[in-house]
Amino acid sequence: MPKFIPYDPSQSKMVVVNYADQLQPGTFEHAIHFLIEQKLDLSIFHPSFKNDDTGRPAYDPAILLKIILFAYSKGITSSREIQWSCETNIIFKALSCDTVPHFTTIANFVSGYSEKIEILFEQVLLVCDEQGLLGKELFALDGCKMSSNASKEWSGTHKELTQKRAKIQRQIQHHITAHKALDKNKSHDDERRARSEQAMETLTKAHDKIDEFLKSASPRMGKGDNESAKMTTSKGTIQGYNGIATVDKKHQIIVDAQAFGEGQEHHTLQPVLKSVFDRFKRLDIELDDPIFTADTGYANEANMKYLHENNINGYIPDNKFRQRDPKFTEQKNNHSQRRPITGKTKVSLSVIPASEFDFDPVNKTCICPAKEQMWLRSEHVDRLGHKKIFFEGRLSKCRACDLKQRCMHNPDSANHRKGHGRQVSFIINKGQRAPNYTDWMKHRVDSDKGKLIYSHRMSVVEPVFGNIGTNKRLNRFSLRGKKKIQGQWQLYCLIHNIEKLKNYGELAT
Ligand code: SF4
Repeated sequence: MPKFIPYDPSQSKMVVVNYADQLQPGTFEHAIHFLIEQKLDLSIFHPSFKNDDTGRPAYDPAILLKIILFAYSKGITSSREIQWSCETNIIFKALSCDTVPHFTTIANFVSGYSEKIEILFEQVLLVCDEQGLLGKELFALDGCKMSSNASKEWSGTHKELTQKRAKIQRQIQHHITAHKALDKNKSHDDERRARSEQAMETLTKAHDKIDEFLKSASPRMGKGDNESAKMTTSKGTIQGYNGIATVDKKHQIIVDAQAFGEGQEHHTLQPVLKSVFDRFKRLDIELDDPIFTADTGYANEANMKYLHENNINGYIPDNKFRQRDPKFTEQKNNHSQRRPITGKTKVSLSVIPASEFDFDPVNKTCICPAKEQMWLRSEHVDRLGHKKIFFEGRLSKCRACDLKQRCMHNPDSANHRKGHGRQVSFIINKGQRAPNYTDWMKHRVDSDKGKLIYSHRMSVVEPVFGNIGTNKRLNRFSLRGKKKIQGQWQLYCLIHNIEKLKNYGELAT
C-alpha cells in the first residue's frame, strides 16, 4: 500500500496576521492603498454623508474604494462576490481592514458616485503627470462596444415600441384567422391548434406589456426611452454602450474615458476632443499642439471641418486610405512572395515630395517642410479636366534654407537673381465639386508624416482595450443608464492608470 503524508481536517492552528504586511510594495494592492491613503483627496465624498450628529457610522469611502478597485482589477464586479472576498480573502481583508461591507453598500457606492469617480480619475491623472508619465504629444482614441444590463426587447424609442406593438397585433390577427380557418374546415389537427393557442397567449402577454409601458412612460426626447443603443459588433447586435478611451502615447495612460449610447463612432469625436481639452485646462496641464489620431470610423466631413476650424492637429483617415497607399497595395500583391537578396539597396535621389508639404485645399494655402508659407502661383485645369493648384517657395527663403539641397530639384537656381523657389502642385478636385475638409484630411494622412503618425494609433490604444477586456475581463457593463455606465467605464480606466503608475511611476515603496 502506498504511503501518504497524513492529514487531519479537524486540527486547529493559530496564525498571526499583520494586515499591513499583506500589502507588499510593488503590488497593485499596495499601489491602491498608497494612492488612496497618501495622494487622493476623498473629501469629495463627504457631503453625501449626513450622519454627523445622528445615525450610525458609515463605511469610509477609502475602504470601499480600495476593495472595489482591487476587485475590478481581478475581474470581480459582483457586489456579493466582493463581500464574500472580504470575508475570505486575505488581500481583501487587508484592504478593508478586516471589515465586511454589505453587498448593497458596495453596489450603491459603484452606481451612486459616478461623478466622484470622474474627479478621482482626474486626481490620478494629475499624479501621472507629476511623475512624468504623460508625453502629451500624441493621443489615440478608440472605442469598445459592450452590452449593458439592458434588454434589447425593452430598449428603443416610443415610435419603435409602437411599431413593435402593431407588429404583434398583426401576428395575433394572423393566428386568429388561422384558428377560424381550422374551425371552419372542422379540422382535427389538435397539435396545430394547441401551438397556435400557445403562440397567441405569448403574443398577447408581450402586447399587453408594451401597451402598458407606452401608456405609462413619457416619450423621451431624442434617441430613445433608455440611453443605450443597439450596436452592431463583430459578435452580432448588442444593446449597450461604446466606451471611448483617449490614450497618451508615452505610457498608454488614459486621459479621457467616456461612455456613449451611440452606435455611430463619428458622433463621439467632437465631445471627446472637447472633454480632453477642457480636462487639461481644468487640471492646468499644458498642451503644445498635440496630435490626435483615430481610425476610419471617426472620419466624416463634419469632424474634419471641426478639426480644421479648431486648429486641432488630427490625423483621421477615410476608409479609402489603404487603397490609395501604393506601398500597401504592393505589400498585398507581394504577400508571401520571396525576393532574391541582391545586396544592393536602391537609393532614392528624389527631392522631398509634394505630399510632405502642408497643403490646405480649403484655404488654398501651403506650408513647406521648413514651415514657410509658399505663395499661390496659379490655378488651372489640365487636359484631363483636373483642377490643379501651383505654389512656389519664396526665393529669399529657399536661398537661405538648410533643406535646400533636399528640397529643390536644382538648388543652385535659388542663387540666381531671376531663379525660382521650390515649386509644388496639387490636384484639388477631379470632378466639379469644390475641395472640402475631407480632401484636406486626405492630403494629411497620405503624406509620409501622416502615415508615420497613424502607424502609432494601433500600438497606443489597442493594448489598453486588451488589458481592460482580457486581463480585467470587462466584456459587458453590469449597470444600466449612461451616468452609471460612465462611472463604471471610468473605474476600469482608473485601474488601468493606477497599474501604469505602479509599473512606471515612483509610488513609494
Ligand atoms: S527650400 Fe524653400 S520650399 Fe523647400 S523647405 Fe526650404 S524654404 Fe521651404
